[in-house]
Amino acid sequence: MCDCNPESMDLKTPRNVYLTAFYKRSFAHHTVKNRMPVIVTQVLDGLARSKEQIASEHGEEGQNDLKSVIGELSKLKYEIQTNKSLRKLVSDAPDIKFYNDYITGQSDKEGNVTFFSAIWLLSECYMYRRIKEAFEMTNTLKNYDPFLKQKRDSHFQALPVMAKLSQYLVEVLEKSEEPKKEDFIHLLKINLWGNKCDLSLSNGEMTSNTDELFNLENLEPNILCDDSEKVWMAVSGGQSPIIDIVFDNSGYEVFTDLCIADYLTTKKLASKIRFYVKTIPWFISDVMITDFRWMIDHLRMNVDEYLRQLGNKWYNYVENGTWVVIEDNFWTLPVDFSYMRDVKLELYKELSKATLVIFKGDLNYRKLFGEKNWDPTTPVDEALQNFNPTKLCTLRTVKADIVCGLPQGLAEKMEAISEKWMETGDYGLIQFSEKIVPV
Ligand code: MG
Repeated sequence: MCDCNPESMDLKTPRNVYLTAFYKRSFAHHTVKNRMPVIVTQVLDGLARSKEQIASEHGEEGQNDLKSVIGELSKLKYEIQTNKSLRKLVSDAPDIKFYNDYITGQSDKEGNVTFFSAIWLLSECYMYRRIKEAFEMTNTLKNYDPFLKQKRDSHFQALPVMAKLSQYLVEVLEKSEEPKKEDFIHLLKINLWGNKCDLSLSNGEMTSNTDELFNLENLEPNILCDDSEKVWMAVSGGQSPIIDIVFDNSGYEVFTDLCIADYLTTKKLASKIRFYVKTIPWFISDVMITDFRWMIDHLRMNVDEYLRQLGNKWYNYVENGTWVVIEDNFWTLPVDFSYMRDVKLELYKELSKATLVIFKGDLNYRKLFGEKNWDPTTPVDEALQNFNPTKLCTLRTVKADIVCGLPQGLAEKMEAISEKWMETGDYGLIQFSEKIVPV
């Protein structure tokens, strides 16, 4: 039994059930018990450091708002640590009704929903939603992004390798008129490893040496499922279609997202690319529209000529509508994608207009596959549970204990190498589904 939480069981997550902190030998438990309180503490520390800046920008009202945010977040941390029930959200934002109805529905089904008993997805999304709510309830700090500094720092830290990648991309784009499978797959793999740069896993620390992420040969054995040939087949069909990318993280990763988008656009493999961003600060490093715009502006002013060149080109793609950035609050709801058809039919219909949707990262993976502890050999199409708007691909470095679509025996082999193989981000998956169920 866990000393902090009598409701936890000293077990691994059984097969085919939802991930939850209830199982003490799960990554969900480690997250709720250790990682989530640290993340709230870091937000509190960041606010303490920004006290003077907030006072100078917003005066006395700002100072009072800051106090109220600090009070709310201290309560939140205490509620997580003492395994309180998830209280209803109180802000009047448009997504709140869904959150509250969902929490009520879960309580009706499962009894009291607490941080440790809730489905992990709910528990973790709820924490980030509560952080946003604390700011929403103020006058002067409504749009304050408590993760902004970490996002910007990670961008600056990755600039040298981004400069290297930009030179590589420019050379690849110039070397031939025709798209080439090898070039596309190379960029796809660079994009996959970009997903290692996740500030939520590292509690806001930048741990990955981004230079290593460019050295694909060394990383090749760490790709446990590689459907990149199938992804290539899907994009090289010749109709110059719409391709969608559902972003994960800011910094180096989103830069690599735009590199693959540039390749698809320049080589006329896509006529339009739509990027989906979060509407609120999310899992520390996730991309919001402000982060996207900031990065393009920053690249346009960079001293490196290749970064500047790409920044200007990408700016024009956005200006002329070839690239579209779409905000939708569905991506920050606490439910998996099998809910999309019921909750946001318009979004499902939009995605179905794309020839391919690329889902980046771990949280999208958890939501694609229903936050369940599948048998690792469960086929991808089965684990998608009727979320099939169009062909889709997931690029994800493994940072949570959920996986499907692996060949027989591989998960056991990985387990023997390291018990923590699903928590480090050292292993990657490129998985593909061509099953389409139109609305
Ligand atoms: Mg993320």
